Amino acid sequence: GWEYAPAPESAAVANLHARYRMFVDGEFTDGDGTPLTTLNPATGEPLAEVATAAQSDVDTAVRAARRAFERTWGPMPGAERAKYLFRIARLIQERGRELAVLETLDNGKPIKEARDSDIPTAAAHFFHHAGWADKLGYAGYGPEPRPLGVAAGVIPWNFPLLMLAWKIAPALACGNTVVLKPAETTPLSALVFGELCQEAGLPPGVVNVLPGSGDVGAQLVAHPDVDKVAFTGSTAVGKEIQRTLAGTGKKLTLELGGKAANIVFDDAPLDQAVEGVVGGIFFNQGQVCCAGSRLLVQESIAEELLGKLRSRVELLRVGDPLDKNTDVGAINSAEQLARITDLVAAGEAEGATRWSSSCPLPERGFFFSPTVFGDVQQSMRVAREEIFGPVLSVLTFRTPDEAIAKANNTPYGLSAGVWTEKGSRALWAAQRLRAGVVWANTFNRFDPTAPFGGYRESGFGREGGRAGLEAYLDV
Ligand code: NAD
Repeated sequence: GWEYAPAPESAAVANLHARYRMFVDGEFTDGDGTPLTTLNPATGEPLAEVATAAQSDVDTAVRAARRAFERTWGPMPGAERAKYLFRIARLIQERGRELAVLETLDNGKPIKEARDSDIPTAAAHFFHHAGWADKLGYAGYGPEPRPLGVAAGVIPWNFPLLMLAWKIAPALACGNTVVLKPAETTPLSALVFGELCQEAGLPPGVVNVLPGSGDVGAQLVAHPDVDKVAFTGSTAVGKEIQRTLAGTGKKLTLELGGKAANIVFDDAPLDQAVEGVVGGIFFNQGQVCCAGSRLLVQESIAEELLGKLRSRVELLRVGDPLDKNTDVGAINSAEQLARITDLVAAGEAEGATRWSSSCPLPERGFFFSPTVFGDVQQSMRVAREEIFGPVLSVLTFRTPDEAIAKANNTPYGLSAGVWTEKGSRALWAAQRLRAGVVWANTFNRFDPTAPFGGYRESGFGREGGRAGLEAYLDV
């Protein structure tokens, strides 16, 4: 008796089921956990029921992954593994439309982003790593680098299929097997990925998907037969996992929060910078670990830039994520919406000047107006804490040195952006910014060949490129 929130047409395109089961040892099974209900954030209504894992399922999945590592996947020549990864990449492309609609229904992101960014980038990640599978001897880790064994991946809800790809593609390319725990609010695309694994003929146990709450994640990372943990999510949980793993000898990579500075110098091409600043913070409703959530603008151009920025933000269309014209969709959950609302209230209370778009919001669902804070001081919470929502904090600077000092004044260090006509200035800034990624005259660009990851409380380890393989190999 489920009342589906999405229109029947979108439910059909997404091939939406009323109930989803876990994917363990090549089969879909009912878990021993209490089923969860995933919601459509654009309506707040139930989307589907999902089986969840209990400790017994974690044990079964890890055992299946170990068996596959020892018997099929581990010993398989890299050239053979590559064929499976290529097949998976093509299947993601072939079912791209279905996956994009499903992702939008489950996450709330605009369909144009799911269609043009999440899904193709996930496929690209599998293509890229398929290419590595038979060339690991050339990766600079010696002639015969070895896989680690069973890798656990725990991922957040902001880019469900893409984060899955970031975990599974490199692990498999290097010969490891995987148990993946998707986020509780966005498990659906990971379970459809299980279907793709079956379709690709992947040996059972190579990939296992266990939906559930953070408890399942905690049981998985603590499991004694897991060799490696790759986590993306909040800094608080990342630290907890680090404590759990201390002394176990398991390998760990953490990709955590951020508070990225997007720095606009006085010589920047302003219209281009405005586009980059807007995309940098409002892409995926700002629920992006590398979101350009702090705009640092040089004082002499601040007024002009802010004027252009507000006009541009007014043009953003906020609404139904399934509408191809929508620029800003729904916040993923009521909890996340409450968090954003609280931090915005704190910004107002601390004296920052709030400006929000006048675009009307849908009457139901979890939506938040694109918001810009002016008169922000570095000590304010909106300048220091990750809001993970469509909220931009604007600070100004006078000199390039001051810009770097302010940009680096954060416990995080995931990404940064610089806008300038001078190549020498972009390089000068990139060398001084303590951030794993620095974009010049662009923002939020992701490429599987480019290592991504943070400094300091943004975590450690890299995902993507040759550097990303290191996390899944022993030399
Ligand atoms: P989270 O860290 O709570 O959850 C991420 C994943 O970890 C989920 O799958 C969750 O079930 C699991 N998990 C939770 N507790 C765990 C534990 N003790 N052991 C193992 N796994 C556990 O993040 P969230 O609830 O998705 O979001 C909260 C905040 O995290 C956001 O507001 C944002 O600040 C940050 N975040 C960062 C990223 C990123 O890409 N860096 C992504 C999403 C969220």
